[in-house]
Amino acid sequence: MTPAGRFAPSPSADLHIGNLRTAVLAWLFARSTGRRFLMRVEDLDDRTDTDIAERQLADLAALGLDWDGPATRQTAHPERYAAVVDELSRRGLVFECFCSRKDIASAPRAPHAPQGAYPGTCRDLTDAERAARRQQTGRPPALRLRTEVTELTVHDVLHGDFTGLVDDFVVRRGDGVPAYNLAVVVDDAATGVDQVVRGDDLLSSSPRQAYLARLLGHQAPQYAHVPLVLNDEGARLAKRDGAVTLAEIGVDTALRQIAASLDHTADTVEGMLAEFDPQRLPRSPWIYRPARPQP
Ligand code: GLU
Repeated sequence: MTPAGRFAPSPSADLHIGNLRTAVLAWLFARSTGRRFLMRVEDLDDRTDTDIAERQLADLAALGLDWDGPATRQTAHPERYAAVVDELSRRGLVFECFCSRKDIASAPRAPHAPQGAYPGTCRDLTDAERAARRQQTGRPPALRLRTEVTELTVHDVLHGDFTGLVDDFVVRRGDGVPAYNLAVVVDDAATGVDQVVRGDDLLSSSPRQAYLARLLGHQAPQYAHVPLVLNDEGARLAKRDGAVTLAEIGVDTALRQIAASLDHTADTVEGMLAEFDPQRLPRSPWIYRPARPQP
């Protein structure tokens, strides 16, 4: 399989200029290194509104991005995730977790336990304790990975070595839906993705994902976590900031703005590809001042 890069939007809202810029970067990274470029709609969480996914894909195509093969949807192949959860389960690498968010937040922790780590409440329950918890909570448990490390270092093209938390993270939610960290790793491996370009809000998830990839016998991909786009108050850009979607900005202006933010002079994605040099990418967030909506 020719190696691939990808863009993996969640269809929760129309893509804003920051998401579009990340997509352009993912495409530039893949195409400039001779990779295939895949489009994956991450609809495990957002199953209801298929129009949003269609609009997202139309916006990406309008920018001039192309991808190899049809866009795929995670909900189209539940068996892919189930097979991996079964495998982990057979290998004794998952445990049932009955904790609610509140249980986790209020659980006693060892004095030096890493911030944000699962406290281990359900990791070593006896059969009897598990049965009691099941009855108490009255809902099906989530499955968590039984990890052997607490942190892992990954390499990122833009951030260098990054060391982050690997706790006993959820691989299947209590409602049976595969967890984000599992789905990403399974899909990337199944489709030959060896280059992951995405927003740097996900940098902290990459050690968990790299750990799981290795556990399943895959090499961790090359990572490039690109800076987010912020509004002029330094907060993550959002719809309420004004004109931020392609429908509001228009294709030509959006392309010019994205190119300028990358210090490129071209105003088409093909033109940007000719100029693209990952080492010269700006490392700080792009501050975006949208045109305010007309009252
Ligand atoms: N679906 C995720 C998002 O839209 C991205 C996941 C990924 O690139 O690994 O934020």
